[in-house]
Amino acid sequence: MRDLQDRHNTTMLFISHDLRVVQFMCDEIGVMYLGEIVEQGPRERIYGAPAHPYTQALLASAPGKGGGRRARLQGEIPSAHAVPSGCAFRTRCPYAFDRCVSEKPAMRDVGGGQKGACHLLDRAAVAA
Ligand code: SF4
Repeated sequence: MRDLQDRHNTTMLFISHDLRVVQFMCDEIGVMYLGEIVEQGPRERIYGAPAHPYTQALLASAPGKGGGRRARLQGEIPSAHAVPSGCAFRTRCPYAFDRCVSEKPAMRDVGGGQKGACHLLDRAAVAA
């Protein structure tokens, strides 16, 4: 597939749960939780400086990655038929606070082409 991409100078959409394959295959990455993209950006940014707690936990739980460096995922993923209010990740997020229950986080620019949907990335609110 990498050869085909290079040979035909084309774009492909690649979906996988295997983070090592994604890292090898993809230049741009979108991380999904309960059917919505919670973080997106260039491979180097996503793997080198993940901004969203879900991405951080995914990378920490990957074989050979993290080793407890970042928060690990707790609990079960909620049903897609009963998505939690506010931030859909709040029932498993170690950093959840009041605002996460009532308000769905907007996708915010983190820099370097990276974006994340988390209230902790709302610099204006965090600084206030
Ligand atoms: S918005 Fe809140 S619950 Fe959602 S990822 Fe950020 S801190 Fe966690």
